[in-house]
Amino acid sequence: MKHLARPVALLLALGLTLSLSACGPKEEPSGWQPTHEPIQTQTAAPEPTPTPAVDPYDAVRHYWSTDQLTQSWGPEQPVEHLFFHPIIAYPQYAFSSAVPTDRQKGLDDWMVTVDEYKKILQNVYDKGYILVAMEDVWSEVTDDSGTHMVRNTLMLPEGKKPLIISFDDVNYYDYMLAEGFTSKLVVGEDGQIWAQCTDPNTKETFLTQDLDATPILDNFVLEHPDFSLNGAKAIYSLTGYQGILGYRTQNDRDIAPNDPKRPEFEAHRQSEIDAVKPVIERLKETGWTFGSHTWGHINLGSEKRTLESVKNDTERWLEEVGTLVGPTNILFYPHGARPDGDDWHKTGPMFQYLQSMGFRVFASVGVNSFSYIKDDISAVICDRLHPDGTTLRWSRDRYLQFYDAKDIIDLSVRPDLGVGW
Ligand SMILES: [Zn+2]
Repeated sequence: MKHLARPVALLLALGLTLSLSACGPKEEPSGWQPTHEPIQTQTAAPEPTPTPAVDPYDAVRHYWSTDQLTQSWGPEQPVEHLFFHPIIAYPQYAFSSAVPTDRQKGLDDWMVTVDEYKKILQNVYDKGYILVAMEDVWSEVTDDSGTHMVRNTLMLPEGKKPLIISFDDVNYYDYMLAEGFTSKLVVGEDGQIWAQCTDPNTKETFLTQDLDATPILDNFVLEHPDFSLNGAKAIYSLTGYQGILGYRTQNDRDIAPNDPKRPEFEAHRQSEIDAVKPVIERLKETGWTFGSHTWGHINLGSEKRTLESVKNDTERWLEEVGTLVGPTNILFYPHGARPDGDDWHKTGPMFQYLQSMGFRVFASVGVNSFSYIKDDISAVICDRLHPDGTTLRWSRDRYLQFYDAKDIIDLSVRPDLGVGW
């Protein structure tokens, strides 16, 4: 299915090298108490509950009135873009002997802890950033020069600077669960998004809003409604090979249609699909959007990558993920790897194919929030910055406009790998 989005959606996401893993917990981060709510059942998703009559998110959606949006943020002014991987729920566990050293290195490189994440949100808020929808930043137009993308002028409150946040791999992969990350997003009895989590030490399973990036940002925005423009929050960059958002919604093509295991597999898959739908619905209601991170987290920059495999992967994403989250025109490159030889000035066959399937915004990872509107095809190339162990340790200066790494990094819990400042 293709969706040539007109103006609307852009998503982008990017993938960094995810040699990461998950997190392993051991003790709760010091200094704060997770909010626990007993969970009814571990494997089945909780019963979706109707959104309360008065949606607390209304206060965010309507915080800024149109007449307060008097600052034009034009096409020449960058829209900053930060992205995160899942955050480390139990850092003491993740960085303990319970997790192999190479996995710890991956966690240290590419992730931040819950406490670091909270501090980063507070800092970007304090610096005057305001969350904008990635879909609002660029649009596709048709004029005398043909059909092409344009950078929109954003209307902001005075003194605010636009910020996109994206979250990669919000799939709750098995390998992460083994290291103590939260395990899925659910709609709680209060109608809000919660994360299911199993404490890796006690094996207790509970719902929390304190150990997962999504409900933490939800609550931060509820407490600081001026942090969101028109209710925008952030965009997920999703793969599909282990389902989405903690639900195993993926198909298993190894189980043939006539395999006796098929009916049971189908029934389970359908129950996961049914369970994730209200979660997607509530996320959409509260400012979250969705982009592709490819189905299989495939490295588009690999020399061995074939166009055929990109087609298979893309069709599979659209079939198994796109049908659940809806159309998107944003693609976040896994590993940040661009196709066709990494020359973003050129338009190779893989790029052309992906664009023909509806993608317009192609996000990689870089040293600034660079973006470039291509002139030979209707598409945007952009980069995202990556708050994580590598940049906290080694790129302090580059991130000072958002936060001072010295104030953020928790060296008491991370491995002793040094810092460059
Ligand atoms: Zn990724």
